[in-house]
Amino acid sequence: MKKISTVLGLAASLLFLASCAPDQPKDSASSSSSTSTNASTTETSAEVASGASAKTYSDPSTMEDQYDIIIVGSGGAGMSAAIEAKDAGLNPVIFEKMPVIGGNTNKASSGMNASETKFQAAEGITDSNQAFFDETLAGGHGTNDQEMLHYFVDNSADAIDWLDSLGIRLNNLTITGGMSTKRTHRPEDGSAVGEYLVTGLSKNVQEREIPIFVNSDVLGLIEKDDQVTGIEVSVEGQDAKKINGSAVIVATGGYGANSEMIESVRSDLKGVVTTNQEGSTGDGIKMIEAVGGYTVDMDQIQVHPTVQQDKGVLIGEAVRGEGAILVDATGKRFVNELDTRDNVTAAINNLPEKSATLIFDQGVKDRATAIEFYQEQGYVVEGTTIEELAEKMEMPAANLTATLSTWDQAVKNQDDAEFGRTTAMENDLSHGPFYAITIAPGIHYTMGGVKINTKTEVLKTDGSSIPALYAAGEVTGGLHGENRIGGNSVAEIIIFGRQAGVQAAEYVKNLK
Ligand code: ADP
Repeated sequence: MKKISTVLGLAASLLFLASCAPDQPKDSASSSSSTSTNASTTETSAEVASGASAKTYSDPSTMEDQYDIIIVGSGGAGMSAAIEAKDAGLNPVIFEKMPVIGGNTNKASSGMNASETKFQAAEGITDSNQAFFDETLAGGHGTNDQEMLHYFVDNSADAIDWLDSLGIRLNNLTITGGMSTKRTHRPEDGSAVGEYLVTGLSKNVQEREIPIFVNSDVLGLIEKDDQVTGIEVSVEGQDAKKINGSAVIVATGGYGANSEMIESVRSDLKGVVTTNQEGSTGDGIKMIEAVGGYTVDMDQIQVHPTVQQDKGVLIGEAVRGEGAILVDATGKRFVNELDTRDNVTAAINNLPEKSATLIFDQGVKDRATAIEFYQEQGYVVEGTTIEELAEKMEMPAANLTATLSTWDQAVKNQDDAEFGRTTAMENDLSHGPFYAITIAPGIHYTMGGVKINTKTEVLKTDGSSIPALYAAGEVTGGLHGENRIGGNSVAEIIIFGRQAGVQAAEYVKNLK
């Protein structure tokens, strides 16, 4: 219990009384919270946090035998679905197998991508859904499911407005690799998006009195006459019991913490550290396959380029998005840091040391406040001067000094002659103190998953849908194709999580 609360930070430790934590078999995922930042430092965040802090999870003794809509998983997709279903007048419930809610969503760092938003307009940023579509498709090497992608970009601005209406304001813009403009929406203070989002969504879930049962491991779906009619769930390690649902939404996240599943599709990733929370074990995929659903892109696993290796803590893309550069062991740049994640990862893996160092100044630290958390964890090395930092990092000081002076010149001229970087060049790296974080790639996100359509209906290989079964979020596959753009997973869980809630509600209303 203690370990989990420390790890999952504000949303987990302050807001909920989690009980009966299971043993923690792994420490890589469970002890990592890449994104824990001071979500409560802005006024908006503080309001969200304090509003939720008085609530607890539902008592298992209050569990009913029947709900309109059963939602499996309490990440961003599950909670968004629950809120929409409740607001449509139905009676949803959320089951979460871990002792705390939030899943990998808690750890999301960069932000939420969206185009044509009011917050972009307020900053004078011109963007279009088509540009967002084209750049995401290019980032996915043309392999994204284009129908899903169209729905995604076209509904992105509305999702930002919806969150705003729930008191979740993502009005601070940054940029992630592969994007040409600032469309990554973050909390006002520039902190990591995940905890802020989980805190805000859970406040809304609780205000609506949607029951949320933790330590509730959903073991499988129940089917009758080719239609899903409920789930089997083991609560606090007890024998499985059946709960009926007029519709079921599977929002169980990915399989990034299931090394067996990963290795079965990607033997090259054996032993690679993961950033995932330990509940990301692909359960939903197995459940859905058992009732006739199928998967796509299962071997497409995103290896994030910048992961602190001790505990698998992801160093968010916002650090580069706010101006940091990457250098090798000799203090020299070797890649366009804002290239897509797959390309930056490949460049690091091509270095003899297979690791690299993020270098940044006080300006970056001020703008990407997630860095405070990395510093608290002891991952950030500080030097008053570049020479002092180089010495501490055991890098040739002359090289690092030359690298930074060339880079500052590139920013001044808006021309990175060395590696062709064109984004995140608003600010140079001339304001000491200077900082370094050593990183290497780590398993981050599973792009593959179950096949759904734009209504989030779970499909069979013959193209028909499985009645009463919906899925959304990382458990699904296809949207990102071979490479996910940073900031697109948070957008996906909100956009398709909402859609699952809306569609399931419509389905259930038609039954009544
Ligand atoms: P997404 O980003 O798609 O919302 P997350 O990883 O944030 O996904 O959340 C998924 C949640 O589902 C996690 O909290 C995870 O622990 C939970 N989960 C996974 N498998 C099960 C299961 N079998 N029963 C209940 N909850 C589950």
